[in-house]
Amino acid sequence: MKQLTVIGGGNAGRNLIETVRAQHVSLPITLIDARPAVWENRSFIFADTFPAPLRLDRWAAGQRIEFICAPAVQVRPHRRKVVLKSGNTHEYGTLAVASGMQSRKEDLRGVHREGFSYLSDLNLLKVNDYLKISEEVCIEASTWQGIRWAFACARCKMRVRLVGKDFGFLGNSRELVFERCGQHRIEIYEGAALAEIIGEKMVKAVKLEPLKVLSAQIVIKDSGFEPATRFLPEGAETFGVFFTNLERVFCAGSVTGDDAAHRKFFFGQEEISGRQGRMLAEYLLNDTAPEWKEPEYPDPEACLREELERALPPRSEEAVQGAESGEREA
Ligand SMILES: Cc1cc2nc3c(=O)[nH]c(=O)nc-3n(C[C@H](O)[C@H](O)[C@H](O)COP(=O)(O)OP(=O)(O)OC[C@H]3O[C@@H](n4cnc5c(N)ncnc54)[C@H](O)[C@@H]3O)c2cc1C
Repeated sequence: MKQLTVIGGGNAGRNLIETVRAQHVSLPITLIDARPAVWENRSFIFADTFPAPLRLDRWAAGQRIEFICAPAVQVRPHRRKVVLKSGNTHEYGTLAVASGMQSRKEDLRGVHREGFSYLSDLNLLKVNDYLKISEEVCIEASTWQGIRWAFACARCKMRVRLVGKDFGFLGNSRELVFERCGQHRIEIYEGAALAEIIGEKMVKAVKLEPLKVLSAQIVIKDSGFEPATRFLPEGAETFGVFFTNLERVFCAGSVTGDDAAHRKFFFGQEEISGRQGRMLAEYLLNDTAPEWKEPEYPDPEACLREELERALPPRSEEAVQGAESGEREA
């Protein structure tokens, strides 16, 4: 391997790069990521403030690699080039696609307004600033990830409106989740969906369907996920966890999951993606074919309940009223 380019600086991409770098100190490596920062782990929902994310430029400097902060829009395998959104191109020797999952985009008016984001596209450097100056957030959730964001914002003392077409995917835990949301002043609008983001430059409110208008400075849409592979050419296919039908193009991490569209829970994925990144690195360095055994995933209902207990612990009636009057006085 003479050069390595990695698209995606999540768990898979960073583990891949760290493993390669540890054994190959002088190999030219480039990381391309659309976002300037990522979270190292997602335990932020248990904190009372949003922790600082990991800045990829600083991480890249520590690994002595080049970092390009730009969305990749096309891979041209015959020319071994990645086309960036700016129109610039980047030439690769070996390409690892570790771009994870992205929120499915839907037809929604007003998405260009500042303060709106699809869940997977959140710019974590900006989000922290918005959260500091905003009081109301509206989150449409269609998976557990969106609901977790509602918990995180509630812990940061924001007024949270949680919107969803159907929370039936919570199974037997649905009532418990609703009860805890009530105790932590998360308002739930079930059977509703975002219809329009209202404002001028910035978001001021959100229109729901059926008709209701809620004021909000931040709106987050979790519309479910799909593998983030739109930049691959038509006909590109992945084989198993690491291989593609494109010459010198490999993949690792949650980008390879073909069931992303149906999944509501992603427990244990962080560790799995990291492991896949390290295994792909070993293959690229030593040519030892990775033998991937599908891991046993933890029981989602048990994980959900554990997260709920930690993020939104039960509150007595008096505590709820006390919190409400405290907030009114403030
Ligand atoms: C919003 C969200 C929350 C999640 N929460 C959890 C959780 O709490 N626990 C858990 O186990 N799993 C969670 N998951 C599942 C998650 O996919 C895995 O945990 C794990 O982080 C996946 O690692 P990865 O490196 O494969 O992908 P990711 O960590 O998603 O990293 C992919 C990176 O690729 C970049 N990228 C994508 N497309 C492009 C492009 N076109 N050009 C350039 N860069 C691009 C992204 O900006 C991102 O930084 C979550 C997923 C999402 C999307």
